Amino acid sequence: MPTGSELAYPVHETFYSVQGEGLHQGRAAFFIRLYGCPQGCWWCDSAGTWHPDYRPERVRLLRAAELAELAAGQSPPEALVVLTGGEPILFDLDPLCAALRRLGRLVHLETSGMAALRGQVDWVTLSPKPQGTWPLPEVVARADEVKLIVHDSEDIQAGLATLDGLSASAPIFLNPEWSRMRDGDRALLAYMVEAVKHNPRLRLGLQAHKFYQADLLDPASVKDLVPLGGNPELGY
Ligand code: SF4
Repeated sequence: MPTGSELAYPVHETFYSVQGEGLHQGRAAFFIRLYGCPQGCWWCDSAGTWHPDYRPERVRLLRAAELAELAAGQSPPEALVVLTGGEPILFDLDPLCAALRRLGRLVHLETSGMAALRGQVDWVTLSPKPQGTWPLPEVVARADEVKLIVHDSEDIQAGLATLDGLSASAPIFLNPEWSRMRDGDRALLAYMVEAVKHNPRLRLGLQAHKFYQADLLDPASVKDLVPLGGNPELGY
């Protein structure tokens, strides 16, 4: 079993961009996207991190210190560091969080909450996947905000059902699944508006980085993340 300093993470990509979602929307952020996810969402916009048909030719294995060095070299100290995936909570994030925090960086995590969280992060964005493995209660309780991806109207209730124990202060964002947004599904968007009006605990969300095509501006970002676009035949 490798120790913390030897542990290497499978890295799909690292890039410097802008957090496009949630309460920290619009903030500069260095993204570390880890490889691997068993949730199999059929609207996944990062299928290049897990889908057997889209497996990249090469996934880098990088240690915590190497990733911290990349963050320090490619983004200013004030920028957030966002750990995303794939499903980063599958990995022991303790060495990585420690290395980033030694640099004074704020560490944010984006997760479906399907496993125990190892590592000290400053912010947890929970995006439950009700069609797959539900979030552990301890991760729900730790969440600072929630992001529900809405491909169909039933997705709202299905997502809310996974959130027992969520802090009353954690906002719940409804983000339209990108293909629905791109194709202008007015009926779904109207349904989401009405859902928020009916339940003010909810908020309308957006993936602003996609409008700005922010990630593509960094040549280091991987351009073939392979969105499945809500095609059930491509997911599980
Ligand atoms: S959208 Fe679903 S399948 Fe894709 S990375 Fe996130 S949890 Fe995994």
